[in-house]
Amino acid sequence: MAAVFFDCGLCAAKSFETLRLTVEDYDTIIIGAGLAGLQCARLLGRRGLRVLLVDRKSSLQTSIHTTGIFVRRTLEDFDIPADCLGPVVRNVTLYSPSRRSLDLTSEQDEFRIGRMGRLYEHYLHDCLRAGVEWLPGTRYVEQYRLKNRLVVRLDGGQTSHRVTARYLVGADGASSRIARDLGLDLNQEWIVGVEYVLTNVPLNGLPRLHCFLDPKLAPGYLAWIAHDGEETHIGVGGYAAMFDPLQALDQFRSSLDGIIDLSEAKEVERRGGRIPVGGVLRKIATTDGLLIGDAAGAVSPLTAGGLDPCMRLSTLAARVIAEYLETGDADALRAYSGELFRSRFASRLWMRRLVSSVRNQALIELACAGLRLPIANWFAWHVFVGRGSFPDVEPHWTPQTAI
Ligand SMILES: Cc1cc2nc3c(=O)[nH]c(=O)nc-3n(C[C@H](O)[C@H](O)[C@H](O)COP(=O)(O)OP(=O)(O)OC[C@H]3O[C@@H](n4cnc5c(N)ncnc54)[C@H](O)[C@@H]3O)c2cc1C
Repeated sequence: MAAVFFDCGLCAAKSFETLRLTVEDYDTIIIGAGLAGLQCARLLGRRGLRVLLVDRKSSLQTSIHTTGIFVRRTLEDFDIPADCLGPVVRNVTLYSPSRRSLDLTSEQDEFRIGRMGRLYEHYLHDCLRAGVEWLPGTRYVEQYRLKNRLVVRLDGGQTSHRVTARYLVGADGASSRIARDLGLDLNQEWIVGVEYVLTNVPLNGLPRLHCFLDPKLAPGYLAWIAHDGEETHIGVGGYAAMFDPLQALDQFRSSLDGIIDLSEAKEVERRGGRIPVGGVLRKIATTDGLLIGDAAGAVSPLTAGGLDPCMRLSTLAARVIAEYLETGDADALRAYSGELFRSRFASRLWMRRLVSSVRNQALIELACAGLRLPIANWFAWHVFVGRGSFPDVEPHWTPQTAI
């Protein structure tokens, strides 16, 4: 039986040309070409598997929903090209609700802001070189099992088509349809983040992240300025039920006199999205498919950083999928259980609960004053840049040896 079906009434040859699919059946179909999907696809492609990568976006340069701050741990462990990163950032300023500031400086190159559109394109290029088939502008609709294959229905706008595969990967973000359709766990706790990306903002001093604790503008999280001298990101994040994100963003932007000069700023992009902060989900794999990235809840509950977890979990997923498909042994999937990760960052989940419950401005002001003590100062730095933001996926594991 042919494994690619067309529902559109057009002749198969024409549809084939439109789709540019060159095989009839895939080992793996990955839905979502964000950082998680791209990392998993390029690794599986290199392993020689037949992979189809699908995204509803027509271009990976658009609708980006991350600031793109990479931490040192990710920069050290993964191959992120230098031309996809902005200048090094070593300085952080923390602000209390009354805007009392505390400067933290590292001896090391702690952060770099990714040029995410360029990075996504770079990784897509890696995927294509590794033989991955790419289907942009196409939405996942549903999946069902037919004998020993999964049939996946995709909607490309004018055409609806069915493709078969042995395994399905949900890299489709925080509100994953794949998770729902595979009967896997769903994210239950989110914060919402929105930001402006600006150019033409003068840099006074060194590249810096400014983090504002403010329960009104950013309830349960932070407002931020990330300025590396080339790009400036101004954003707010918090629990959606407790604020109006767009209103808070404009209020925040207009409150920055004396901190940053926005008189000549040029807005180049607006970004935003949901960030799951309930910790990695428990049930993230079955014999039909698995979840990676935000779909798996793979975000540090405390810092809401998701890029490092994306890279680590997707790398592990690629190894597990390859082993499972090569051996047919479902035991290979045991290594891919959310329970294993959750137990290793229980303390961060508790801290998230604590942070989300403290809404009293005076209490936060007091906590910020406490951060001036050397031990608390060390703790704050450890939280922001510590290597434990997301647990290593296995003991003795390194990304280089993972696949
Ligand atoms: C405003 C904001 C700022 C952030 N800043 C940082 C930061 O600075 N550092 C950090 O570490 N983390 C940050 N995060 C978190 C981090 O960006 C995410 O955890 C990470 O980008 C998730 O990547 P992903 O590939 O899992 O999901 P996404 O990047 O969301 O990719 C999912 C993809 O799936 C596609 N898709 C969805 N549904 C379908 C469908 N039905 N059919 C086909 N395609 C579909 C989407 O088009 C999308 O391309 C931020 C998040 C937000 C919202």
